[in-house]
Amino acid sequence: MYATLLGDATFHDLLLDFDQDIANSARRERCLKCRSAVHSARYRRKPRGRLCRLSDEHDWRHSLCCARQGCRKRKMPPSLRFLGPKVHVAAMVVLIAIMREGATPSRMRRLTGAVGIDRRTVERWRRWWAECFTASPFWQIARAAFMPPVDQARMPATLLERFTGEVREQLIALLRFLAPITGGAGMQA
Ligand SMILES: [Zn+2]
Repeated sequence: MYATLLGDATFHDLLLDFDQDIANSARRERCLKCRSAVHSARYRRKPRGRLCRLSDEHDWRHSLCCARQGCRKRKMPPSLRFLGPKVHVAAMVVLIAIMREGATPSRMRRLTGAVGIDRRTVERWRRWWAECFTASPFWQIARAAFMPPVDQARMPATLLERFTGEVREQLIALLRFLAPITGGAGMQA
């Protein structure tokens, strides 16, 4: 069952480790604008969609800021937990969109009840996958790597299926694949 992953603390810990590693290596690079050193400027978010208790550490979004006065350019490392400005964690935005596929109204009610989201949110995510994501410059380039082509009408299920392993590994691979677009603009809706 997909939803059990969202309640598995070791799964969320793993995503946090990935984010930490990504942030650490981004921190070793200099400011893109003025080549000065960068330092941590992480900030607290209020993520939803994790169905278990997690330490305070999980609420922080890694972020970097140029150390030089007068520049202070921010740099957002990619993340496997935060999908742009979305309040729900990335894993949930993927899994719930998959679970809604072909779900009967009553099954959908049970699902949204169990994870504490409403149907409008699920519908918004479906549209985001079908319209915003598939139209994004990132996907327009990345999709060429999949052969045969991914069926865009059944996103993100068809994309998840392209990664190997158990659901857990597939999901992590998919979140890593999405990471380049998690820090930037163009992730609205
Ligand atoms: Zn700078």
